[in-house]
Amino acid sequence: MAVADWLAALDRRAALRAKAGLTRRLHPRAAGDDVVDLAGNDYLGLATHPEVVAAAARALSAYGLGATGSRLVRGSTDAHHALEDALAGWLGTDRALVFSSGYLANVGAVRALVRPRTLLVSDAHNHASLIDGCRVSGAETVVTPHADVTAVAAALAAAPGRPAVVVTESVFSVDGDLAPLARLHATAREHGALLLVDDAHALGVTGPAGAGAVAAAGLAGEPDVVLTATLSKALGGAGGVVAGPAEFVRHLVETARTFIYDTALPPAVAAGVHAAVGLARTRDDLRADLSRRAALAVRRLRAAGLDVSTPDAAVVSVTAPGPEAATGWAAACRDRAVAVGCFRPPSTPDSRSRLRLTISAGVSQAEFERALEVIVECAP
Ligand code: PMP
Repeated sequence: MAVADWLAALDRRAALRAKAGLTRRLHPRAAGDDVVDLAGNDYLGLATHPEVVAAAARALSAYGLGATGSRLVRGSTDAHHALEDALAGWLGTDRALVFSSGYLANVGAVRALVRPRTLLVSDAHNHASLIDGCRVSGAETVVTPHADVTAVAAALAAAPGRPAVVVTESVFSVDGDLAPLARLHATAREHGALLLVDDAHALGVTGPAGAGAVAAAGLAGEPDVVLTATLSKALGGAGGVVAGPAEFVRHLVETARTFIYDTALPPAVAAGVHAAVGLARTRDDLRADLSRRAALAVRRLRAAGLDVSTPDAAVVSVTAPGPEAATGWAAACRDRAVAVGCFRPPSTPDSRSRLRLTISAGVSQAEFERALEVIVECAP
């Protein structure tokens, strides 16, 4: 195909997506704007916390802008190692390894768990990074219905004698519901399988001292559990972590391509996230506030007749009648200085379009309540 034909085909495809109301758009955000943010993932308001910013600024002066190389070359700074020790201590695992994003942590972790003949059992609502990890690994993957432990057990039972890994999020990113972690672990253990949990939306938000849903389920430090998370949500920074048995973390350093061949996280970000870990551990008050607000959102929005998910952490989703309605709803909120997430297929695990509200301690109670009113008033 000539280049011009290919570009014309891309145009036709974009037109089809536009007709279906599915065009993806970038909305520039000005620093310090006065928008009430229910779209970002800064759950504890740590992205702008003075101690976090100061720690990052000190490291920025000390190390410069970038890591200058991959972790195995010159990119493994003291700031990375200190962060990894702090994360392992907080999460209650042998060791933790920092990647430059949660996406790369997931792809690297899933792939590294795969041995010859491994079966992956992946929840239907899993994040794209887990799905890509399954794909990149080349392993046979069974996708089980969402949060269906019986289906997981059946998939494992159908592969006797084979290594297997059950792959799930803890708090699911689209609807905010919590996976049945204890039952998934018991099922995995019964079949000699491993459990990989992406704790992205729970880290800092739930669990003892905010250590996440894996810790809350009593699974931290179990030899058959591997935890992953992004450092970009409640910790307000960027990067990803894989935490688990020391043997597995050593195996990641030796083999994970998304660790080995990727430039390390900027040291200033590692230092800022380290400060954020220290703060996050102490803020049970903010966590209690997030869960009160999630409950308030559910009550207010349901009272207005909206279809609202039942959140287990700080993610609340509200069904929209369709993709165009979702886009229009989010735009109307934005016009009234309220930012909400707008999720449409294929970024949703089913055909439903949704608004996604992520609740942040950085938003005042008054702003939060006004935002709920705006969402109701703008409903299609
Ligand atoms: N897992 C989940 C559940 C997520 O929501 C995200 C972020 N969107 C990621 C992984 C990827 O993390 P990162 O943005 O750090 O690449």
